[in-house]
Amino acid sequence: MRFDVVTLFPEMFEAARLGVTGKALDTGKASLKLWNPRDYTDDTHRTVDDRPYGGGPGMVMMVEPLKAALQEAKAAAPGSRVIYLTPQGQRFDQMAAREMAARDGMILLAGRYEGIDERLVDCCVDEEWSIGDYVLSGGELAAMVIMDAVTRLLPGVLGHEDSAQQDSYMNGLLDFPQYTRPDALEGREVPDVLLSGNHAAIGKWRLKQALGRTWLRRPDLLEQRELSEEEQRLLEE
Ligand code: SAM
Repeated sequence: MRFDVVTLFPEMFEAARLGVTGKALDTGKASLKLWNPRDYTDDTHRTVDDRPYGGGPGMVMMVEPLKAALQEAKAAAPGSRVIYLTPQGQRFDQMAAREMAARDGMILLAGRYEGIDERLVDCCVDEEWSIGDYVLSGGELAAMVIMDAVTRLLPGVLGHEDSAQQDSYMNGLLDFPQYTRPDALEGREVPDVLLSGNHAAIGKWRLKQALGRTWLRRPDLLEQRELSEEEQRLLEE
């Protein structure tokens, strides 16, 4: 998976060098190339923003430096679509992460200030994605959210092949609760079944927990999903 990111703050992506994404970068399962629009300016102040036409607060990112940075990124990653991170985009979710994980790469465009000149969206953006209904100061964190969610789905990135498969949303349910040592802590004990070594009983307990949690916390997910016969029987027990 090749990630190209157009950003005014390349330093923020040092965080991607840690943890799961860091391991994927180190092992070549993913690569990351950063493009700074300031490198595509020709004035001494390296200007990338200007006041909005029509007045109002804040600044707007100008077309020319972004377009030049995108053109170089596209030349380096010819098959990649340009994704603009914006609160006005399609809502990113696990389904989108799975679809994106099947791609060879993507060019992520992080906005700043009041956003980018709309003419850049018209000429050069293929998709617009939002990571939620709130406004961040910049698209960098949104780009890193997408990179992280996509990278952990790439084959061989997580330690156990099935660890992504059991995560929340992967099968339309929230994940079951997890416990580790010690088995008793401040009067709270790990459920007996998890210490039993009975894998069938553990599987059943986990499924029941996942179904129960989803029903309590996110009933909307169950509405969009057919229950298997076994799941239905467990819910009725
Ligand atoms: N004025 C814009 C609006 O209301 O639609 C918001 C601009 S925001 C302060 C600056 C940049 O942060 C945006 O251009 C976008 O790249 C990024 N951003 C903010 N919230 C986001 C979100 N929920 N998802 C993805 N990107 C976001």
